Amino acid sequence: MTDYKKIIRNVPDFPKSGINFKDITTLVKRPIEFKQCIDELLQKFSGQKFDYVVGIESRGFIFGSALAYQMGIGFVPVRKPGKLPAATISATYDLEYGKNELHMHKDAIEKGSRVLIVDDLLATGGTIAATCELIEKLGGHIGGIGVIIELTFLQGRQRLAPHPVISLVQYDKE
Ligand code: AMP
Repeated sequence: MTDYKKIIRNVPDFPKSGINFKDITTLVKRPIEFKQCIDELLQKFSGQKFDYVVGIESRGFIFGSALAYQMGIGFVPVRKPGKLPAATISATYDLEYGKNELHMHKDAIEKGSRVLIVDDLLATGGTIAATCELIEKLGGHIGGIGVIIELTFLQGRQRLAPHPVISLVQYDKE
């Protein structure tokens, strides 16, 4: 069993003072461990049927697209303002370190689609809650939420309930 905590780099005071940034670049550059995270997520969601993986900009794209490829389903990006070229819908959210807005193409998913949301990290849950809002606005269902890292002390999981969250590594303090 890989100890992901030994591989994920902690960067203190990034992007601002008091935030202990979990840097996944030190994980995804290692082929065995990167593959292992994708395989673990795949296994945890095995037996469930999804129509799309929705990945959140930008680190959610790394894990989400690899997972969609392995699942043999399509990948849909949720992006920051001004990035998606066609007509979008939007939702605002609070970050652990600021405020932001997320967009999704209006025609990205069909009504009734069952979606798996993927991001690198769950902190307060604001980002994923906004993503759930976008998917539900388009008539989609949240079939699952998968992240590599969960900062359990920020209680994002509780905020996202009743949607279940799967995480591979948990931190109970900064
Ligand atoms: P939240 O909306 O509070 O759950 O924040 C999650 C989003 O912010 C994810 O897209 C993360 O990539 C990013 N994020 C928040 N806190 C951290 C952290 N301590 N280290 C790395 N990324 C973070």
